[in-house]
Amino acid sequence: MPTPYLVLARKYRPQRFSDLTGQEHVVRTLTNALQSGRVAHAFLFTGPRGCGKTTTARILARALNCVQGPTPEPCGVCGPCVEIAQGNDVDVQEIDAASNNGVDDVRSLREAAKYLPARDRYKIYIVDEVHMLSGPAFNALLKTLEEPPGHIKFLLATTDPQKLPATILSRVQRHNFQLVPLGKIVTRLREIAQAEGVAISDGALALVGRQAQGSMRDALSLLDQLFAAHPPGTEVSEEEAARTLGALDRGIVAGIVEAVLRRDAGAAMQGIVRAYDSGADFKRLSDELAAQARNLVLASLPEVRQELPDHEVRELAETARSHDTAQLARVFELLQDAEEDVAQAANPRHALEVALLRAVHLAPAGSLPELVEKVDRALGKIGGGAPPAGARLQREVAASARTAVAPQADPKPVNGDAPLEERWRSLIAAVRAARKMNAAAALEKGVPRSLAAGMVAVGFRSPNDALALEDVDSRRGVEDIFSGVLGSPVKLVVEKLPAESGGQSLAEEKERKKGEQKGRRLQQGREHPSVRAAVEVLGGEIEDVRDLGEE
Ligand SMILES: [Zn+2]
Repeated sequence: MPTPYLVLARKYRPQRFSDLTGQEHVVRTLTNALQSGRVAHAFLFTGPRGCGKTTTARILARALNCVQGPTPEPCGVCGPCVEIAQGNDVDVQEIDAASNNGVDDVRSLREAAKYLPARDRYKIYIVDEVHMLSGPAFNALLKTLEEPPGHIKFLLATTDPQKLPATILSRVQRHNFQLVPLGKIVTRLREIAQAEGVAISDGALALVGRQAQGSMRDALSLLDQLFAAHPPGTEVSEEEAARTLGALDRGIVAGIVEAVLRRDAGAAMQGIVRAYDSGADFKRLSDELAAQARNLVLASLPEVRQELPDHEVRELAETARSHDTAQLARVFELLQDAEEDVAQAANPRHALEVALLRAVHLAPAGSLPELVEKVDRALGKIGGGAPPAGARLQREVAASARTAVAPQADPKPVNGDAPLEERWRSLIAAVRAARKMNAAAALEKGVPRSLAAGMVAVGFRSPNDALALEDVDSRRGVEDIFSGVLGSPVKLVVEKLPAESGGQSLAEEKERKKGEQKGRRLQQGREHPSVRAAVEVLGGEIEDVRDLGEE
C-alpha cells in the first residue's frame, strides 16, 4: 500500500526551535528564557503570514510541557510532545479567532482556567489571528491576562498587531517575526528536495523562493505544485518551474535589464515579446525589473551583503562589474518609476515599453566626468566653441531668463492726466526716495481710491497693513511728501476696504507680474537648445528657472 501523500508544509513542519528558518532573533530570546526559567505568562507573536508564528507557538508549547522540560530542546517522543504535534493534547487548546470570533471559546477558557491542567505542566492557549476576537472576547481574555493563574500560558499570534487594544499589548511579551530572506528559503527548499529525492536546478529553486515573497509556507506549497506536475527521473529546470507556476523566467528579467544597460532598445523590446509569449503579467514584470536593477546596484557596492541564492549573487556581481555605478543607479531609478507608471496604466504593456525605451535613451552610459564631456560636446554643436559646460550652461539659461523679463518702465513725470495707478506709483516712489521704508511698504499694500486735489484716499483690506500710517508723525511725513509731488497741500485718508472689493495694490500687481515672468522663464528655459541638450544627456526634468538677478 503506498504511503498517503503528506503535503510538504506538514511533513517538514519544524518540530524544534533549531528547525525554524529566518527567525533567529525570536528563537534566541525564547531559548534563553526557557534556559533561565524566566518564561512570561503571555506571548504575542506578530508578523506577516506564513513566516512561522503558529509553528513557533506549538514548539514553545512542547518546550513548556515536555516531560523533560521546560526545555529549549523538547524530547519529541513523550505524551505531551507527540500530542501537541498532532493537535490533540487536552491541556493545549488552539483557538482560531478568525473563524468564530472566539467569544464562547474565551468564556469557556476563563471557566477552564480556574482548574489545574489535566496532565501537563501548563494549560496553554494558542490564539491565532487574535486581533479578530470580538470586543466581549477581548474583555474576557483581558480579565484572565490581568490575574493569570500560575498554571496558564497564553501564546497569541497576529498579522495585525495595531488592531489589538493597548490593554492587551501591555500585558504580553511581544516577538516580531520577519519575512524569510530569499537565500534562506532557497537553502531550506534545497534540503527538502534532497530529502524527497527530487533533482531541481538552482534557478528553479530561486524562482519558487522569489514567488513565495518571504513566506516559507507559500514556498513549500509552490514546491508541492512543482513536484506534483514533474515527471520523475529528470531535473526540474527553471523554464519548467516558470511554466508550471506561471512565473517569470529569471533569464527574461535579467536579459531586459542588461539590454537597457547596454542601451540596446531592440533587445529590450525582444525581452518584452518573450515575456508576453510566456504569459507574463506586466505589472509583476515591472516589479521584477526594478528589483533586478536594485540588486545590481547593491551588487556593485562591495560592503553590501545580499540575502540571495549564491549563484544569483555571482551573476549579479559579474553584470554589475561591467557597468558604471552611476548608470546602474540611474537605471534603477527609471525602472522604479516605471513600476508606478505601469501600475496605473490602462495598457501596462505599452507603459512598460515606453518606460524601457526612456531608460535606454535617458540613462547615462557612463560616469559623471564622461557626462560633463557629453554636455560640453552637445553645447559645442549648438554654439560653436566649447567653454566649460557648467559655466556656459548657466550663462545661456541666465541670458534666456533676462530676455523674458519685461524692461522696467522709465519713471514718467506726474501730471493730472496720467492714469491713477501711474500717479500712485510715483507717489510711493517719492516716499521710498525719502527713505520712509515702513510707510512706503504700507502704501504698496493699499489700493489707491482717489487722488483729488487736497486729498489722497487709500483703502486697505486688512487694517494691519495700514499700521505704519496710523502714527501721526509718519502720516504727516507722508502728507508732506505727497504735497511736494502734487504741488499743493494734501491730506491722507485711510479707508477700510471690504475683503472682496475690486482694485489692486502695488504689492499685488508685483506679485502677479512675478508669477507671469516665472512662467515665461520656465517656458523659455524648456525650449532653450542648451537646456534641452543638458536634459537629454543627464536625463532629468526642468522644475524651475531662476533669474540670476532676482532678489
Ligand atoms: Zn517531550
